[in-house]
Amino acid sequence: MIEATSIASGASGKAGGLLALWAYPSPIVPLSFRLHKELAKEHGGDKRWGYRGVSCGQLDVKGRRLSDAAAEGEGNPTKTNPVHDEAKERVSLKKRSKESYKALQAAGVPEDLDWFIDSNIQSYDSMGTPETTAQVHPYQFTTSMAELAQEKGARIILGSVESINYKDKDSAVESITYKPKNTSTSTTLPATDIILTLGPWTQSLLPRAPISALRAHSITFRPSRPCSAYAIFTSITLPPQFRPGAKNKRPQHVSPEIYARPNNELYACGEGDTLVPLPPTTAEVAVDESRCQDIADYCAAISDELRDGEITTRQACYLPQVESRVGSGPLIGRTGTKGLFVAAGHTCWGIQNGPGTGKLMSEFVFDGKAESARVEGAGLDPRTYGL
Ligand SMILES: Cc1cc2nc3c(=O)[nH]c(=O)nc-3n(C[C@H](O)[C@H](O)[C@H](O)COP(=O)(O)OP(=O)(O)OC[C@H]3O[C@@H](n4cnc5c(N)ncnc54)[C@H](O)[C@@H]3O)c2cc1C
Repeated sequence: MIEATSIASGASGKAGGLLALWAYPSPIVPLSFRLHKELAKEHGGDKRWGYRGVSCGQLDVKGRRLSDAAAEGEGNPTKTNPVHDEAKERVSLKKRSKESYKALQAAGVPEDLDWFIDSNIQSYDSMGTPETTAQVHPYQFTTSMAELAQEKGARIILGSVESINYKDKDSAVESITYKPKNTSTSTTLPATDIILTLGPWTQSLLPRAPISALRAHSITFRPSRPCSAYAIFTSITLPPQFRPGAKNKRPQHVSPEIYARPNNELYACGEGDTLVPLPPTTAEVAVDESRCQDIADYCAAISDELRDGEITTRQACYLPQVESRVGSGPLIGRTGTKGLFVAAGHTCWGIQNGPGTGKLMSEFVFDGKAESARVEGAGLDPRTYGL
């Protein structure tokens, strides 16, 4: 395995880590959800990467003004942020498919969901129980998978792949050329089978791949008290003039996702933006502190526990998006070039679908076809995307 920067330095280390039987695409979700459970059982994933079942729901809630939040918090003022231009700044990560909306069940606010301001809650719809929804800590999960693979004999090389080299009039792979990290000399490695798992960077080695990149910010908190195990999709109506001095006269709607994690940690992410194009490496991803502060402010508007919590990480990463009339991916399987495989374009469900993808790729490479899930005709075959 050749990784340019460090294991889990991209979205795989900075995602929310939600796993769900109601995720998409349906042909691989059950396999991957089950494999997560089995991996956690076999390798102590509950302690090693925070695997656990969680409840999940959609919360419609009114936010309070930042100044009110600060006043109610006895002089714990939240930093204010300038108001931004809209179009490029708030792109939905599209985590819920139409099907999953159907799974919403009208329900009251569960008793143990007690870390939002009760009186501001307008509705709560359950989307999943700990049997159908789970979570991992993505950085811990991804780095643990790499360590476990190394224990079984996989070799991990830190270096940037510069080219895939072909033979027989470009009909088959021959080798890859990469530059080991912190050196200036490139090395070529012969290869019979190459799997491209570059996420949003896929086009850098396979320009025809219909995979683009969407930046998204997130933060982690240490809340002022431990929060019950819920993953919450919020829909927050912010009052006019949410920020002191803001001119907007209409309510604004925002929808951060907020996930409680083990060890008194909370994760929250905002919507995507297209303001900064994908940089060459994960090390160069720009973090806009004001967008992280926006997420913190939205959380402070609906929860005292989050208002009074300590922000422990402010980060950004790029979501791999599939943009094609053929389907919405991910692209999993062989290409038209002998020995060249793709496993990329996992959009907002790459952590959930990671183990299933790995299992299927091993079957494609070693057995010639996928056995563990019915993937034919499911819109996943890279060849149908012209690769
Ligand atoms: C804010 C946010 C929240 C999310 N939440 C969830 C969630 O709750 N549940 C879920 O299932 N999914 C979630 N996702 C989606 C998930 O994070 C992604 O689908 C997944 O991480 C993509 O994995 P990947 O390995 O394809 O890409 P990446 O994690 O981006 O990895 C690509 C790797 O390729 C390396 N690379 C690039 N170029 C080269 C090169 N030339 N040579 C060698 N290496 C190279 C990079 O350094 C990088 O490490 C979320 C995503 C975002 C952005």
